[in-house]
Amino acid sequence: MDEPRYPLIGLTRLRMGTDGAGVTTLVASRGCPLRCRWCINKRPLAEAPVEQVTAAELVERLRVDDLYFLATGGGPTFGGGESLLHAAFLARFRALCPAQWRVRAETSLAVPEERLALAIGAVDDFIVDCKDMDRGIYRRYTGGDGALMERNLRTLLGAVGPERVHVRVPLIPEYNTPEDQARSAAKLREMGVTQLELFDYVIRE
Ligand code: SF4
Repeated sequence: MDEPRYPLIGLTRLRMGTDGAGVTTLVASRGCPLRCRWCINKRPLAEAPVEQVTAAELVERLRVDDLYFLATGGGPTFGGGESLLHAAFLARFRALCPAQWRVRAETSLAVPEERLALAIGAVDDFIVDCKDMDRGIYRRYTGGDGALMERNLRTLLGAVGPERVHVRVPLIPEYNTPEDQARSAAKLREMGVTQLELFDYVIRE
């Protein structure tokens, strides 16, 4: 099998307080199946040059922060685009990186079930941006299928437990209301989500 490669857009080192405990390095990738209206990645990142790195190369690059990761319970956070599109890469990375690194993935869960299944074995903590739990709002805002996201979220919660799944619920200008956001939060709690974060999208056009 070909060595999986990650379309690396950039590394942001020494982050704290943004992806859970510890010092983290954001590992940003290109490519996403959704087309969110307010996507901050669309313009700058669509044109940015992309390096295709192997898992071994990335582990070596991230080792510069090994002591910080170990001392604080941090590690790499794979972000997007959509990090779980690269589930085979994540599995390879997990196999090669120090066992104590906490591997996290930011995801919309808008990925085929088999990619999620692969990622479940490779990622310690999932940070999910669910957009909105209403199928119509979801479709209008992302162009994607909310049913797929919901199915994947149920699978994820069942597989890893709610303590490893942090779900972010945005207030999306022009697409949902605080009442919609509250309805999404209530539905997520019914589904078993315990780590919920409500926040406002900030638009930068
Ligand atoms: S899921 Fe994220 S990266 Fe993908 S289009 Fe939406 S905002 Fe952009």
